Amino acid sequence: MADKLEALWSKLLFTEEEGEGIDLGSDSTRAAREIGKNCLVMKILTQRTIVLDALRKHLKMLWRPSRGLLVSEIEEELFLVEFGDGRDKKRIMETCPWIYEKQLILLQEFEGERVPKEITLKWTPFWVQIYNLSLMSMTRETGKEIGEKIIMVLDVDVPEKGVQWGKYLHVRVRVDAMKKLVRGKKVTIEKGETRWVFFKYERLPNFCYQCGRLDHGVKECAEKISMENRAIDEGLQYGAWL
Ligand SMILES: [Zn+2]
Repeated sequence: MADKLEALWSKLLFTEEEGEGIDLGSDSTRAAREIGKNCLVMKILTQRTIVLDALRKHLKMLWRPSRGLLVSEIEEELFLVEFGDGRDKKRIMETCPWIYEKQLILLQEFEGERVPKEITLKWTPFWVQIYNLSLMSMTRETGKEIGEKIIMVLDVDVPEKGVQWGKYLHVRVRVDAMKKLVRGKKVTIEKGETRWVFFKYERLPNFCYQCGRLDHGVKECAEKISMENRAIDEGLQYGAWL
């Protein structure tokens, strides 16, 4: 509907009266800016149709907001979530990722300057466990350096002293949800031995076991993988082990 109108408008010849500009002052946006501080833009990474009422009910149960929650559809498959205050919003953002019907919920700060259809959501934080590191690499610096190669490091779960002994290094990273999940990296320490380190993502939603992308399942996958590139056991390059 919006696209049809836009195409129509691009062909119209406007009269002089219609072409007179309207200058809007800061009063015109004040209320939205104020309420926008408690708002998030949201997209569910799915190819299925979202039923707004079901989504509202689910989010209220999932997030248990202390001062209510409003969800409005602002563009096809794009939503605005308004919290009663900033504390609920902060808590929800800090505890991302969230899942709806096994699919990833993408959340982003309110972008008041944009028309909804210009807003693109693609970033999501994940906690990642990094395995197969030598003991001397269980450090904050290692977490930062490897995490930067996934995309962007938000946090490394290491105490003040800078070292965390354990089975894995725990790193919070920001991931581009439109790209393939990164399964591991080849790491060389101090020009010595090179080894593969493996990633395990916490709270991973459904994703495509064929191409490793988060926005569809294996049945919807457009990517054809040749038989020789398939992993021998599972038949697919990605799986629930990730
Ligand atoms: Zn796929």
